[in-house]
Amino acid sequence: MDFSGQVILVTGASRGIGRSIARQFAQRGGRVAVHYHQNEEAARATLALLPGEGHHIVQADMADADAIQRMMQTVIAQMGGLHVLVNNAGIYDDHPPLSISYADWQASWMRIVQTNLIGAANAAYCAAQHMKDHGGGRIINVSSRGAFRGEPDSPAYGASKAGLNAMSQSLAKALAPHNIFVTAVAPGFVETDMAAELLNGPQGDAIRAQSPLNRVATPDDVAYAVVFFASAGAEFMTGAILDVNGASYLRT
Ligand code: NAD
Repeated sequence: MDFSGQVILVTGASRGIGRSIARQFAQRGGRVAVHYHQNEEAARATLALLPGEGHHIVQADMADADAIQRMMQTVIAQMGGLHVLVNNAGIYDDHPPLSISYADWQASWMRIVQTNLIGAANAAYCAAQHMKDHGGGRIINVSSRGAFRGEPDSPAYGASKAGLNAMSQSLAKALAPHNIFVTAVAPGFVETDMAAELLNGPQGDAIRAQSPLNRVATPDDVAYAVVFFASAGAEFMTGAILDVNGASYLRT
């Protein structure tokens, strides 16, 4: 688990799981590109938490294909390459099919799929173009348990993460001959701002009780799985989707 000499781009690293992923790579010697969308101050706070030197912050809207390409070019130029891409940025919203308008339904699908799936696909494309000519690399996608278990209040979220899983598997096959290894990590609930309202609300205890550990994941639980997939020796796991859900939902 030594990432000395490696450049790692973590999308959505201004807070939550992304911030933990950035920190865990930096603690193991990696130089991290901390990507953010709108909150530069929070990205700078993440940067200040990182041990070591040579980290940068980069901005892009993951729903904007040109912005993603510019961000990739910036990272590669400023940091001298790219070895690991972590597609962590993502959004969630409620759009239960029987209680919202058709217009709101469409807007949720567009926004969520554009950010969670197409944004990740575009970042993976740009990363692979560089990695194939520079000895390979790793692409790790942060998916969700919802891809398997279903998301009745957020079908677009579940579908975007199921799409991310399928994309990871297809890219694993397409890119392995170029030493580019692609995996996905699928957390259940995680203690972050994204889940805070639910976890702090009346359903909080029931959500924690979904796991026999009677808790949800910490951002560090998820970050550890990501770092593991990026580590030397994990190459042959390419195409794998790793559950990080405290045995709350087991699939065979
Ligand atoms: P978070 O809301 O704290 O962080 C999400 C990050 O994505 C933020 O930094 C945000 O700025 C960024 N982002 C959102 N839209 C963007 C856009 N258009 N362009 C660029 N960046 C954008 O949430 P989190 O819990 O840390 O989530 C991180 C990942 O983990 C997400 O992909 C999420 O779907 C996944 N996940 C979270 C949970 C959970 O319970 N928190 C569970 C399973 C999976």
